[in-house]
Amino acid sequence: MLPGGGIGPELMGYVKEVFRCGGIPVDFEVVQIDPISSGNDDLDYAITSIKRNGVAIKGNIETGSLDTEIISRNVALRNELDLYVNVLNCKSYPGIVSRHKNIDITIIRQNTEGEYAMLEHESVDGVVESMKIVTSENSERVARFAFNYARKHGKRKMTIVHKANIMKLSDGLFLETARRVGKDFPEIEHNDMIIDNCCMQLVSNPHQFDVMIMTNLYGTVVSNVICGLVGGAGLLSGKNYGDHYAIFEPGTRNTGTAIAGKNIANPIAMLNAAVDMLHHLGHKTHADILSSAIDKTLNVDGIHTPDLGGTHSSTDVVQNIIKYVMDATKSMKWF
Ligand code: ATP
Repeated sequence: MLPGGGIGPELMGYVKEVFRCGGIPVDFEVVQIDPISSGNDDLDYAITSIKRNGVAIKGNIETGSLDTEIISRNVALRNELDLYVNVLNCKSYPGIVSRHKNIDITIIRQNTEGEYAMLEHESVDGVVESMKIVTSENSERVARFAFNYARKHGKRKMTIVHKANIMKLSDGLFLETARRVGKDFPEIEHNDMIIDNCCMQLVSNPHQFDVMIMTNLYGTVVSNVICGLVGGAGLLSGKNYGDHYAIFEPGTRNTGTAIAGKNIANPIAMLNAAVDMLHHLGHKTHADILSSAIDKTLNVDGIHTPDLGGTHSSTDVVQNIIKYVMDATKSMKWF
């Protein structure tokens, strides 16, 4: 468990409380990462811990500093663990008022290269060069993951998002690779869309999308647009996968520093990350119990924090969820 900054520690406290009350069989090794330390001991320790455990649940680590010597700990973790894919399932909750109803879109994002290569330098005074790295190997890995994901989950359509009309080589390589991989999946229709048009289409007619695949920076922008469409930063979770490790976290990766300690942060995104983690660990029954408690709290009881237009506190939401989790786990038979 990497609590991160801002609201991360309080949200992790809720996760631990729900797990304890529901007897959910996961022990947490808590590792704090300092966002601005000059050394890398804490980062190395976190990486060793994740390698040992295979999995982590994570809050966002502040990366506001413009000091070029301080690299983003979030990006470093993803790169070191080769978590090359990020999956965000954006599904509307019927009990939450939003601009569009019944959205069900999956975003699959390349998670380790593109504009996040962190290769920037000032070549001469006032001129900065920033490299966007796109490789055929990583484009192919993420495209294969995306089409296999679509096949496994019975999805019918893949949209490849790019700006290859301007970035002809980098986005062109990503687009061509995804198109080529798509030929191995004839049952899944695929089209492509330029990122700017994609953002406009998303807010005006999101129902045309099913699974979307894109490079790193477009992925973070589009993820935030879609989270906004279904209810904001406090709801959805995101999954980071590589071939060996996985990290689960809130979908929009916000730190929420301004609302920390006020008992108003929405705990749902982090609890959904816990559901994802339980599924990944094979604890399907507990994952379903927690997921159903979240559904009932949001859709039936209408216990909503202020970001969703409600008046309830974070702890109101958590206590309501705990009530359902305890009811369900009490009636479980233990063998
Ligand atoms: P930071 O550097 O602090 O991470 P950011 O741009 O990534 O900045 P935040 O400011 O942390 O994002 O969050 C964006 C918005 O989403 C803020 O208005 C914040 O209050 C809100 N937000 C983020 N997480 C939650 C949450 N769990 N519950 C309610 N609001 C949230």
